[in-house]
Amino acid sequence: MKSVEALFTPQATPTAMQHLRADFPILGIRVGDKPLVYLDNAASSQMPQAVIDRLVRYQTTQHANIHRAVHHLSEVATQEYENARRKLQHFMGAREEKEVIFTSGTTDSINLVMHGYGRKFIQSGDEIILTTLEHHSNIVPWQMLAEEKGAHIRVVPINDSGELLVEAYEKLFNSKTRFVGLSHVSNALGTINPIKDMIAIAHQHGVPVLIDGAQAAPHLQVDVQELDCDFYAFSAHKLFGPTGIGVLYGKAHLLEAMQPYKGGGDMIASVTFEKTIYNELPYKFEAGTPPIAAAIGFGAAIDYLNQIGLDNIAAYEHDLLRYATEQIQAMPGVRIIGNSLNKVAVISFVIDGIHPHDVGTLLNQEGIAVRTGHHCAQPIMERFKVPATSRASFAFYNNRDEVDALVAGIRSVQKVFA
Ligand code: PLP
Repeated sequence: MKSVEALFTPQATPTAMQHLRADFPILGIRVGDKPLVYLDNAASSQMPQAVIDRLVRYQTTQHANIHRAVHHLSEVATQEYENARRKLQHFMGAREEKEVIFTSGTTDSINLVMHGYGRKFIQSGDEIILTTLEHHSNIVPWQMLAEEKGAHIRVVPINDSGELLVEAYEKLFNSKTRFVGLSHVSNALGTINPIKDMIAIAHQHGVPVLIDGAQAAPHLQVDVQELDCDFYAFSAHKLFGPTGIGVLYGKAHLLEAMQPYKGGGDMIASVTFEKTIYNELPYKFEAGTPPIAAAIGFGAAIDYLNQIGLDNIAAYEHDLLRYATEQIQAMPGVRIIGNSLNKVAVISFVIDGIHPHDVGTLLNQEGIAVRTGHHCAQPIMERFKVPATSRASFAFYNNRDEVDALVAGIRSVQKVFA
């Protein structure tokens, strides 16, 4: 990678990003005879060569099981795995390493909290607050718990711009409220939620808050201590890292009080048939052999992002979002769903008279990858009375030419259906 710092004066940002694009080999492929225009980053973003190289180096020179042997390779693998944890700790601003639990992804992190915290501390008649903007991953586990315990789910509504109504949220609290699950950024619309204020409100009522940060971590600098959230979850594969690995931050005293969600090797201090004593944090929540290579790759993705700087990424993407929004908003017959001014670079849209699935299929013929469907966020679709949308989601390696390609693609889709 070039000396990124040197590239980033505010005026030079787009040029700098063009240099970074070369770090992502997959962006050079063609789809049929068209160059790939990859606008499905909210589903999974691509890995830079530095992450791919790190995975290969681990597999070729460092691979062994961790934590359980004194031999050289196992020690190296353990060290690298724990280094990755420290990188995640600093990336999120966690106070202690033991507050960083490796999971298989955001979904797994949320399920860990549901089983570990929810099943222990939420009882019949208690209430859990979620929002209309949640991904199914932050709805279904809580529904399962509510069903099991006889608890109730209360939902924060949104306005027509796709923004949470904070006053309505405040009114949902009562003496039965036990938990809040809240996305930092909506995957379907891109809205950035006012989580700091919402966390403070929950804490005034003595209620802990889990933040689903799957869509925030790739775009915004996150500081869990400054936010004062109780739990924060995200996945590596949306953060320029590999699949199969994610993270859960939890405040140490909460994690200490929680039940482990999976039992097995590595999560124990001692086992007899009479009694098992659990291991200390973070290992208590990491039963079995973890995805070691993926964790180390996750660490390499964090190194890569740190070199660019989340603030540079946010500034660049903000500009790209504005450019894309202006173009798409001006297109007759195209409607953007969720037009908050406080968004990451995601544009969900519908085209009059054309099903999003057809939009996605025809755009693919132009080499353009967007996601179509309900985006695992059916309550949002219901709120806007659409069955599905097409979603273009951008990363820092996308550029204005690709926005132009998308706009031209939408025009040709409209022509086919004219
Ligand atoms: N939460 C949000 C907001 C998401 O966008 C996603 C994935 O799209 C998830 C949770 C689930 O992430 P994973 O599939 O990596 O567990």
